[in-house]
Amino acid sequence: MAGILFIISAPSGSGKSTLVTQLRTLVEGLDFSISYTTRAPRGSEEHAREYYFTTRAEFERMIAAGEFLEWAEVFGNYYGTAVSALLHAKDLGKDLLLDIDVQGALQVMKKMPEAVSIFILPPSPQILEMRLRNRSAAENMTSEAIIEKRLNAAKHELKQVFDYRYALVNDVLDKAVAEMRAIVLYERGTGDDLRELAQACRTDTHTTALASVLTAFGEN
Ligand code: ADP
Ligand code: 5GP
Repeated sequence: MAGILFIISAPSGSGKSTLVTQLRTLVEGLDFSISYTTRAPRGSEEHAREYYFTTRAEFERMIAAGEFLEWAEVFGNYYGTAVSALLHAKDLGKDLLLDIDVQGALQVMKKMPEAVSIFILPPSPQILEMRLRNRSAAENMTSEAIIEKRLNAAKHELKQVFDYRYALVNDVLDKAVAEMRAIVLYERGTGDDLRELAQACRTDTHTTALASVLTAFGEN
C-alpha cells in the first residue's frame, strides 16, 4: 500500500476513541477504517460512520468469501476489517488507522509486519472502571455484568502489550494525544523534533510508566 498502516488497540474504556478522534483533528492524511460488526449500534452511533452494522449471516458470508483482512469475536460479537479498506486508503494515498482488538491486531502484524502498532493503556484498573461506568451511565446502559467482563478482558489484553511497537498511558488526555501524534509523525519521517517523545513510547525501552500500569493490574 502507499501509506503506513497504524494499528491501535486498547482495552475497552481506555479512551481509544476519544484519543483517535482528537488525533484526526491534528494530523492530516489519516484514513480511518470503518469496521464491520454484528453488535447493535450504541448511543448516537450511525451505520457507515462508526461501524457497518451487519448480521451474523452476512458477516459469516464475508468470512467465507475472504473479504476480511482480519476478524475476531469480541464480547460475543463479530468485528472485522475489510480488505477493501486497505485498497481504499491506497487509492487515496493516505495512511490507514485500524482500531482493532488484540486478536485482530496479532493477525495483521503477522500479515503485514511493517504495520506500526500502538497499544493504549488505562492508568489503573480503578480509573478504567470509573471510565467504563461514566460512559455507560452517559449512554443509559449500565450493566454490572458488562463492566465486570470488560475489566477482566482488560487484564487479559494487557498481557499482549509487548507485541506492540509502541505503548502509551492515557492518563492526561492532552499528553496522550501529543504522544500519539509524535508517533504518527515520527513514523512518517516528518517529525524529527518529536523523535524523543515517540521513542519514549517504544515498548522495547520498557518505560516506568508502562511498568507501573502493569503492576497496578497485577501483571508484574
Ligand atoms: P474506548 O474507545 O477505549 O472504549 P472511550 O474513548 O469511549 O474509550 O472513553 C471511555 C470514557 O473515558 C469516555 O467517557 C471518555 O470521555 C473518558 N476518557 C477518555 N480519555 C480520558 C482521559 N484521558 N481522562 C479522563 N477521561 C477520559
Ligand atoms: P466496541 O464494541 O466498544 O466499539 O469495540 C469493542 C472492541 O472491538 C474494541 O476493542 C475494538 O477495538 C474492537 N474492534 C473494533 N473493530 C474491530 C475490527 O474490525 N476487528 C477487530 N479484531 N476488533 C475490532
